[in-house]
Amino acid sequence: MDKPSIGSSLSLAEVRRQALQRLEATYPLTEAQAIVRTFLRHFLPGWETLWLISRGAAPFPADRLPDWEAALTAAAQGQPLAYILGYTEFLGHRICINPGVFIPRPETEEWIAWTIQHFSASPPRRLLEVGSGSGALLVALGKAFPQTTLFAIDKNPQAIRLTHQNCQAHGLAVFAVVHDFLEAPTPADWASTQWDLIISNPPYVPFADSELVAPNVRAFEPPEAVFCEEIEFYEQLGKLALENLSPGGTLIVELYPPTADRVRDLYQRFGLKATLYRDLSGRWRWLAASAKKKVRIFGAVSGSSSAR
Ligand code: GLN
Repeated sequence: MDKPSIGSSLSLAEVRRQALQRLEATYPLTEAQAIVRTFLRHFLPGWETLWLISRGAAPFPADRLPDWEAALTAAAQGQPLAYILGYTEFLGHRICINPGVFIPRPETEEWIAWTIQHFSASPPRRLLEVGSGSGALLVALGKAFPQTTLFAIDKNPQAIRLTHQNCQAHGLAVFAVVHDFLEAPTPADWASTQWDLIISNPPYVPFADSELVAPNVRAFEPPEAVFCEEIEFYEQLGKLALENLSPGGTLIVELYPPTADRVRDLYQRFGLKATLYRDLSGRWRWLAASAKKKVRIFGAVSGSSSAR
């Protein structure tokens, strides 16, 4: 097994064909193709060149076959690629991922990209993420705003370890601590800290809707990062905003579209100025709220992205 690769009797084309066949039992063809492409890139960097030169006839390295097979088996069982490979990409940044920690989603990339754009003229001095998971959002924001001081809380010690690890891997300092947000909005030491920006993608799928969540999310991802009772996290986030946003500061939260209106109404009752935004599929996906009249001006108004 440790011998240098001399190639197996299987060509790249044959290995690819067999892999697609196996994955097609679980995934639609285009998704199966995307998975095989990702695996080829992972197990055989530069495979495209090899493929083009040999028209797929080059041998697949024998020493990579056992790992290749194991990855395929895991994928065929519906295991998320990020857990199989140990990493994912978030807005172009490589993010390490462990089973037990939520995998960042493309819809989250949308509002983080939006946030980067909207704060580019005056980046936040201090930023807090509630429920940082892998730390992907902080990495993207921290890289965009190198002067910003990053803070994070998460109930899951594994998540806090990963937040540290990913921030460090990207050269970012972060104050990240294990903390149960529903018990108290902040750790005692941070109770009087003021943040210019607070972000969160809280658990937001009500248990009652659990059958609407993809089976492989239910099977493999940490339920405490996905499910909630009602809108209790948003309520606590609203209270946190009232107490701990600096004047003119902003709270941005990812939404569960079916409860978007309830969250906005709640924040308006709190006296916050709250605006809903749609994602690229046209669903209400995030909300920006500010505490004071003197607010930064957001260019986009609700619904702007739905027109695309
Ligand atoms: N949108 C997520 C999903 O794909 C749920 C994320 C969340 O609860 N914050 O399941």
